[in-house]
Amino acid sequence: MSTIRELLEKINTEKGFTGIIRYNEPMAAHTTLRVGGPADAWVRPEGDGFPGYAAALLREARARGVPVFILGGGANLVAADRGIRGIVLDTSGWTGCAAEPGVPDLWVRSGTPVEALTAAAAEQGLGGLEFLAGMPGSAGGAVWMNARCYGSSVSDVLAEAEFLDESLEFRSAPMRAEDFSYKRSPFQTRRDLILSVRFRLRERPPAEILREMEGYRRDREEKGHYRFPSAGSAFKNNQDFGKPTGKIIDELGLRGLRIGGAAVADYHGNIIINTGGARAADIRALVETLREKVRSSLGILLEPEILFVGDWPPPPPPEGVLLKR
Ligand SMILES: Cc1cc2nc3c(=O)[nH]c(=O)nc-3n(C[C@H](O)[C@H](O)[C@H](O)COP(=O)(O)OP(=O)(O)OC[C@H]3O[C@@H](n4cnc5c(N)ncnc54)[C@H](O)[C@@H]3O)c2cc1C
Repeated sequence: MSTIRELLEKINTEKGFTGIIRYNEPMAAHTTLRVGGPADAWVRPEGDGFPGYAAALLREARARGVPVFILGGGANLVAADRGIRGIVLDTSGWTGCAAEPGVPDLWVRSGTPVEALTAAAAEQGLGGLEFLAGMPGSAGGAVWMNARCYGSSVSDVLAEAEFLDESLEFRSAPMRAEDFSYKRSPFQTRRDLILSVRFRLRERPPAEILREMEGYRRDREEKGHYRFPSAGSAFKNNQDFGKPTGKIIDELGLRGLRIGGAAVADYHGNIIINTGGARAADIRALVETLREKVRSSLGILLEPEILFVGDWPPPPPPEGVLLKR
């Protein structure tokens, strides 16, 4: 811990830090599932100095062997009850959207909440991001996950990204749809920090955009998305299964299945909810139980969409354990 404090004090003195730093910060406060124990340090830089600060922090952390986890909106995470070792770098203070003059494009800083970016696009009369309305999380997380809703994926409208690459160099690169696939982005196999992204949109009357977005929000509400803390779909869909994963879980009568404070929502087979007081271990046990029941009944292996992050007791949780930076 003293290494982390020294590291942050050094960087903060050099870079003139503005923002918030907390030690032993519960991750439950930063994830939509509301589970997760303490991060050794949680750092939320604010203001235009974010890229320079983040680069210095990542460089120093790497030199000292301290892992850094990049946090977006925490909307797809199951953070371990034992917490996250090292530093959690929270991007939520790095926000803003700007239309590119002369073209129907929108630049968005990675910490910008999805709700804010869809609102900005609507206000500018830029259509194409409507499908994201009502989805929790940040722009950076949506790109990293290649989020998909209502038949569209982020990669359909993503034109360019600025990021800090694995060598901690600032880079900008065009984003090609063919490098992305269902809920997969090239960032998942690298250690880049996404800084800003450019969406290629089209002109559309704001009233039409708002109407479409309202429809998606209402649909999510009706499907119970916001009734309990969750991280959205627990498992990925897979065309080879012939039906949506939620339906597979429903048909096996597993809706409402409960372990500790975690339950399969009784209104949606592919949503795991925190009914109050769930531990991350309950979520993990429920994921493992569902996988096993589906595997033994139908011979198919569900792939978790939610990501298990942090300090899990062995064996490693299924899939999705992230690269250490
Ligand atoms: C009610 C509800 C409904 C949902 N509906 C949908 C849906 O319809 N479709 C869908 O696809 N998802 C859905 N989700 C899941 C979630 O909203 C998305 O996965 C979202 O894109 C996660 O973004 P985030 O910013 O919260 O990322 P986080 O959960 O914070 O992080 C996810 C991953 O992205 C990485 N990351 C985040 N920001 C950066 C960055 N700037 N640079 C590098 N790496 C970064 C993190 O390190 C982590 O590996 C839903 C979730 C909830 C709670």
